[in-house]
Amino acid sequence: MRDSYGRDINYMRISITDRCDLRCRYCMPAEGIEKVSMSRILTYEEILRICEAAAGLGISRFKITGGEPLVRKGCTSLVQELKKLRGVEQVTLTTNGQLLSGAIGALAEAGVDGLNISLDSLNADRYRYITGGGDVSKTLQAIDESIAAGIRTKINCLLQKQFNEDEITDFAELAFNKGIDVRFIEIMPVGFGKPETGIANDEVLATLRKTYPDLIKDESVHGNGPAVYYRLPDKDGAIGLISAMHHSFCENCNRIRLTSQGLIKPCLCYEDGVDLRPALEAGVLDPEAHDAALRAALEEAIKRKPLGHTFHNRASVETKAMSQIGG
Ligand code: SAM
Ligand code: SF4
Repeated sequence: MRDSYGRDINYMRISITDRCDLRCRYCMPAEGIEKVSMSRILTYEEILRICEAAAGLGISRFKITGGEPLVRKGCTSLVQELKKLRGVEQVTLTTNGQLLSGAIGALAEAGVDGLNISLDSLNADRYRYITGGGDVSKTLQAIDESIAAGIRTKINCLLQKQFNEDEITDFAELAFNKGIDVRFIEIMPVGFGKPETGIANDEVLATLRKTYPDLIKDESVHGNGPAVYYRLPDKDGAIGLISAMHHSFCENCNRIRLTSQGLIKPCLCYEDGVDLRPALEAGVLDPEAHDAALRAALEEAIKRKPLGHTFHNRASVETKAMSQIGG
């Protein structure tokens, strides 16, 4: 379905939990966020009904996220069930990788179409610091296992000045050595993110060009997102740059977001959302009215998509943490 500005909305991020086993400093406070009781979190059955309605509107690609999706039991079965829905072409998952090793087999069997693994540093101490206690070796091992299982694997690295900017080339080496995509993401003022610590694409590119003067823009399609890709002529793997702050990516925005409590967010930047609870509750008595109500609520959210974000005007920015939205 097209939104009011003619953009084709074909992609939905589904947050299945707001809980997480890590405490990344830009995402969550060290003491965590008040836990929402499971009774307020959508059941997998409800999520599947919503996705079925979304698929009916032409949304064919789904990303499971969180919080950390793998802390919720049954996440891999959800992948399997989503893959069976008519109109669903792609189901991927984004994870911090800490619990991934044990889940790779089940995810591959469920038919997951790709894994995005968040990794902000290759250095064990830095990784532990930025994630509030994570073990980088677990994520690195899971990355290798994911590649070995034949799953399309991408790394998301959030760059911050004076923290990990000196690792840009190390991450590029990882991309070229393993033949995978590494995407550098600019921090956004959502949750605990401080935009002034972010690094502009142009700066990242200038750093990369010093080591890789042959870097060329890669026009091939790599995924659903707003990344601009660069590669070397003789290597597999690419570097993606995702820049919300220095280059607005809104003109090609193709997505809506479902929070774990059933709110459809038209845009990451604003608090605005359409609550799907009333439509879900209608279904208890009348399944047909229910499907129509869900479709109408999703259409309303798509119609409400704004032209762009206003991250530079902090007054209008969403106050929820990124872990509650799903990134
Ligand atoms: N726990 C999973 C993970 O870390 O991949 C999935 C949820 S996490 C909220 C999804 C993505 O959002 C991560 O790649 C994380 O780095 C990114 N993220 C969190 N806070 C952010 C911020 N303020 N600006 C930009 N990206 C952010
Ligand atoms: Fe957890 Fe992901 Fe947020 Fe880190 S970025 S605290 S792993 S939800």
